[in-house]
Amino acid sequence: MSLEVLAPLGWAEREALEAAKGLLLDWDGCVAVNNRILPAAARLIARHERQVAVITNNSTHLPADFARILARNGLDIPEERIFTAGMEALCHVRAAGYRRVLMLGSTAMRRHAMDLGIPLVRDNPDLVLLMRDARFNYAKLERAANAVREGARLVVANADRTHPGPGGRLVPETGALLAALLSCTGSHGPAPLVIGKPSPLLFERACARLGIAPHEAVMIGDNPETDGEGALQLGIRPILVGGQSPLSLDHLLEPLAAE
Ligand SMILES: [Mg+2]
Repeated sequence: MSLEVLAPLGWAEREALEAAKGLLLDWDGCVAVNNRILPAAARLIARHERQVAVITNNSTHLPADFARILARNGLDIPEERIFTAGMEALCHVRAAGYRRVLMLGSTAMRRHAMDLGIPLVRDNPDLVLLMRDARFNYAKLERAANAVREGARLVVANADRTHPGPGGRLVPETGALLAALLSCTGSHGPAPLVIGKPSPLLFERACARLGIAPHEAVMIGDNPETDGEGALQLGIRPILVGGQSPLSLDHLLEPLAAE
């Protein structure tokens, strides 16, 4: 193959981006690292602001928290266009009407669960709701494992094992806590319901809010297992940046038609 027929890196992805009616953006490792907005992400969002929704497997913060971070950087994505696994998990649990919920999660998310009227308990739950809990410990594991063994349903905000932190460090995620729980319970009972990507819920909610069909969206993210596979299942074009992808957000910002 001669060099002349090779398209420049990112050309096909830039074309897909320009043709899309909506952009779904992952947060951690794509828009931001450690909740600091990446410069290239800021430029991309500014260029496409009204067509953008954020979908993130985050389960420690509320959509309003992300909207505030964006606003501090001069970017206007209202919280109604920010979909988090944690918030969607709370909405699911409230709508399903569970009466006794053992919730492992951040203080902010637990407080929000109570504000939504979700009945949180320590003992005899009919549901275990698992989110990223930086204060996860042996006693919580013991309570959750026994509840699931005794028949409580298990809902998990997201199954990521880690996300990228500052300086390339790993931040343990909800999936790591889920692995600890499942190592106790084995395959007892029904499989846990996972709300976050690659499950379709966040993608579908974001497309509906943007008023577009999934095939009219592109998903920009850094994780092939969650952002990539989840998008493909719904017919959304995934564009993977960072991590093992040779592409970066900077490639997507280059002009399409200089050629
Ligand atoms: Mg990510």
